[in-house]
Amino acid sequence: MTTFKALIAGKGETGTSLAFGDFAEADLMEGDVTVRVTHSTVNYKDGLALTGRAPVVRRWPMIPGIDFAGRVEASDNPAFKPGDLVILNGWGTGETHLGAYAQKSRVKADWLVPLPEGMNPGEAMAIGTAGYTAMLCVLALEKHGLKPSDGPVVVTGAAGGVGSVAIALLAKAGWHVIASTGRAEEADYLKGLGAAEIIDRNELSAPGRPLGKERWIAGVDAVGAHTLANLLSMTKYGGAIAACGLAQGMDLPASVAPFILRNVALLGVDSVMCPKPRRLEAWGRLASDLDRDKLAAMTTTIPLEDVIETGRAILDGKVRGRVVVEVG
Ligand code: NDP
Repeated sequence: MTTFKALIAGKGETGTSLAFGDFAEADLMEGDVTVRVTHSTVNYKDGLALTGRAPVVRRWPMIPGIDFAGRVEASDNPAFKPGDLVILNGWGTGETHLGAYAQKSRVKADWLVPLPEGMNPGEAMAIGTAGYTAMLCVLALEKHGLKPSDGPVVVTGAAGGVGSVAIALLAKAGWHVIASTGRAEEADYLKGLGAAEIIDRNELSAPGRPLGKERWIAGVDAVGAHTLANLLSMTKYGGAIAACGLAQGMDLPASVAPFILRNVALLGVDSVMCPKPRRLEAWGRLASDLDRDKLAAMTTTIPLEDVIETGRAILDGKVRGRVVVEVG
């Protein structure tokens, strides 16, 4: 019986159990491409899955991990051949389909994106789902017609994964980036990524007024709740906020005032079921637009054995930037 090393999550009477062990290749789920996973990451959603703090995992046993990069080992689909380097983000991987914290994964060819030329698998996972989602947010703002000369852009959860990549991308594109963070000690880090101004996240996290002073034309929000409501209330006429996260909360205690009085738009961003053409566009833009030195500056690398502890740390807001997991 062929086996491979994996982190296996089980559901017991006392909650979720996590253990490293050997997983039988014969027990992999359906799919037409088998990938030798070389790198994964720890995203916020991975933290939720690993701690069981939210019902991310909906199939047991599960191999957690929502994204990976690796090399195709076997393929029944002409789109991929053994040796091809690929990226996977989402599609229920680590939720309903066996996931990334393992040496092997079997998935549908349609789910895979070819690794862009000039990018290595470690860099792809330094970007990971958080960085790819940041790119989707930037694309959403651009498709809304917004550009740097229209005014400043605000990024919340700035020192986190989505926030760090969003700042680097927006600054490179010429935006004046206002970074909102709860970690004042990370001001130099955020300025290094390209933030022009740093604000304390407490300015945005409490209940606010339906309309506030107009401060920015655009925003990338990884936080939700009162923060997103305040972002909307402070957006200039005709602006838009791309919302992708819930680090403060899933609620949205907002009013319609910004929409009906200032023509503000709220742009929802989902990475999990995002159609393939948009994924290819996002990964292409990440390959061309994201400064690799900035990516390296926001990245730490850990072995697979450390994902459980890092999953707890990311939910506690203790992870800066991005974490690459070397699957080995
Ligand atoms: P991180 O933990 O890396 O970043 C989140 C950041 O939010 C933290 O670093 C912190 O930034 C800030 N934050 C944390 N707690 C609070 C709080 N209570 N109030 C206000 N700010 C807070 O996570 P990711 O970047 O990986 O993900 C960010 C969010 O985006 C998550 O909610 C995640 O689920 C979501 N997401 C959604 C996707 C989608 O498809 N829609 C895909 C990927 C992520 P700081 O210390 O700077 O204040």
